[in-house]
This record gives sequence, C-alpha cells and structure tokens, in this order.
Amino acid sequence: MTGAEMRALIADLYPICRSITGEGLRETLRRIAKLVPLEIREVPSGTPVLDWTVPREWNIRDAFVADSSGKRVVDFRASNLHVLNYSTPVRARMPLAELRPHLHTLPDHPDWVPYRTSYYAEAWGFCAAQRVVDALTPGDYDVVIDSTLEPGALSYGELVLPGATADEVLVSCHACHPSLANDNLSGIAVAVALARGLLALPARRFTYRFLFIPGTIGSITWLATHADVVPRIRHGLVLSCVGDAGGFTYKRSRRGDAPVDRAVAHALRHVGAPYTLRDFVPYGYDERQYCSPGFDLPVGCLMRTPNGEYPEYHTSADDLSLVQAGALEGSLALLRSVVAVLEGDGRYLNLSPEGEPQLGRRGLYGATGGAARLPGFELALLWVLSFSDGRHSLLDIAERAGLPFPAIRAAADALAGAKLLGEAP
Ligand code: ZN
Repeated sequence: MTGAEMRALIADLYPICRSITGEGLRETLRRIAKLVPLEIREVPSGTPVLDWTVPREWNIRDAFVADSSGKRVVDFRASNLHVLNYSTPVRARMPLAELRPHLHTLPDHPDWVPYRTSYYAEAWGFCAAQRVVDALTPGDYDVVIDSTLEPGALSYGELVLPGATADEVLVSCHACHPSLANDNLSGIAVAVALARGLLALPARRFTYRFLFIPGTIGSITWLATHADVVPRIRHGLVLSCVGDAGGFTYKRSRRGDAPVDRAVAHALRHVGAPYTLRDFVPYGYDERQYCSPGFDLPVGCLMRTPNGEYPEYHTSADDLSLVQAGALEGSLALLRSVVAVLEGDGRYLNLSPEGEPQLGRRGLYGATGGAARLPGFELALLWVLSFSDGRHSLLDIAERAGLPFPAIRAAADALAGAKLLGEAP
C-alpha cells in the first residue's frame, strides 16, 4: 500500500463513532477485513478476563444539546467527539447551570473539541469548543443522548499469517478511538499495509499475528483468552501515532534488551530520519498489558510523536490534516526493515576460520564486472567471516560493523553460497 492508500483508509474510517465495544468498532473491523483476511472475534459482556470483566456494549444513534428555539448547539451528527464516549443515555430539559458540569472543553484551545471517555464510571456528558460553550446564554436546554449500554460483546480483529515456525511476531494497535486520525487510525492503516506486504511474501520464517483491539480491555481480553499463544510470542510491537510529521519514537519493552528492541534500534540507526529511543514506562498503550510482569512479553511501542506530546492529541484537531502520506510510508518502511532483521537474523559458523579464506578466488572479492553489490558488501564479507563463531548473531555483527543489516545478511548469503558459512548448531 502506498502512503496515499493508507491515508485513504484513514479517511474512510475517520467518521465512524468507535468505542471499546459496539457497532462502530465492529464496522471498522469489517472494513479492515475487506483489505486483509481478518477474523472478527466477539467476547460476550460479563466474561471475566484477568482482573477485569468484559463490559456492556455501547451503541449510540444521536446526541445533542438544543437551545430553547430547538437549534442544536452541540451536535453528535457534526462530530462524534461531541459526546462523552460511553455516555449513559439521557433525555432531559435543564437550565444552563445544571448542564455546565457535563460540558467538557479545552480552554487553552478554544476552537478544539476534546476527546473524553467514561468507560468504567457511569456518566453522561458532551465535549464542545470553549467558544461555543462561552456563547451559551442562560435558559433551558434540551439534552439528549440516545445511547444504549446493554449486554452484547467486545469485538476485536485478529489476523494470523502462518510462517515456517510457530514462533510469533505480534503487531497490535488500538481501534477504539472515534474521529481521531493519528491516534490511532494511523496505526491501523500502517498495520494493514504491513500485513498486506507480509501476505505477499512467498515465505515467512515467523508466524505474524495482527490485533486490532479496543485499548486496554482488548489486550487484557486477548491475553486472558490466548494462554496457549502467549508463550510463542518472540517479538511484538504496538503501533500508534505513526502518521504525523514528527521523528520516530521507540519505547522499548519492559525487558529493555529484547531482540525486538535491538532490531528496532538498529533499523532506526539506518533509517536516515530523526528518532528517539526511550525506556519502558508503565503507561501509554497496550504494551502495558503485554509487558505486565505476569506475561513480560518482548513488546515495544513504535510511534512518531508520542501520545500526549503533540497539542492536537485527543482533540478534534487530530484530524486528517495531521497525517501525511509520506510519514505513513516512512513508518511502513521502518517496520519492513525491522521485519527484515527479525526474519533474517541468525548465528553462523565460519567454515574456513583459520586465516582469511581467499575470497577473490571464489568471485566474492575485488571481482570486476560482477553482479551489482550493496554498498559495503566486501567489508561486510570480512565482518561476517570474522565474527561468525557461533556466538555472534548477524545483528550483533551489523551493530559492531556499523553496517545496515541487509548488507550483512547479503554477505552471509554469498558466503553460504560459497560454502564458507554454515548455520551454527
Ligand atoms: Zn488515545
């Protein structure tokens, strides 16, 4: 998928009113399922999951605040952000003073509408621009939230791409935010594009599992119901906020030195764009659940500008104008580099370790008119031969040599082809 195609997917999903449960989430998953063979799973409300319970299903048809003339001054139809996500139903007439505590605004950004939720405490409310609220005159207002909270199911999407081994790479992104583009329709779009690329590969070493889940309760539900899969997860990434113009931010797994942490750090060093590496902190996205001590999975989080660190975060200004096709493409390219490391890493043995083998004789070194080689190819041959003692992996060697992983991998392939390199036991 191109950056423009990813952006088009974001535009398609943007208007849907998603939440942690309900038809908006389900419709989102159905649309993703048109692009990749996603399974949509439903877990009934009331199901115990770890220390939590799958909540009731929230659905909404309409919501508004209308003045005494009947004019809608806050209108869910204009933007689904206008309703406090997961609001209980309400139908009442009340004076402004009584309504006021239920109106959420952003005084510092008086034209923006905040995104607020009330998943685990029963409440109703509206979100509006400060300017709109300031303009309300005293008097009675009609307040309607036509929502339901009823037993139903928590929906999530799961896509498994089998590989040569049962060892798995987990890619997870939340799909519960309503009309917000970077957080996290960008993660969904890049995950779909990555999955399509992996589907097109003739062979995969790892099995890849993509999850499109409601934040927190989705990963908890998945973890609670996949005890058999959890031990097979070798590497994992949470994707979020990957469509803005900022540099990359990678938040390491709780372990801090998991192979995925090293693979992402290596890919970032060679990406040619600004980036920041951060240690794990126990807030953020679903990495909190995957990395909780009872699971301690090797799952990091890839972002551009992190959650809470751009002014548009969780507001109506996190709209389509914030996500750029080029940024989405760059995020996808970085993930492909990470996948190339994970797929291609391994330990080898130099089969001619006493002195340097004569590479020129084998057409590997200084050959004129040979096939085009990656830059640094001859240097990479020497590095791979020197450190292929069974202890150093190709990623170790790439790091030590300061060369991009593909150059080291290509050198290893050429040496194996010349029978100078064998897999370490
Ligand atoms: Zn968020």
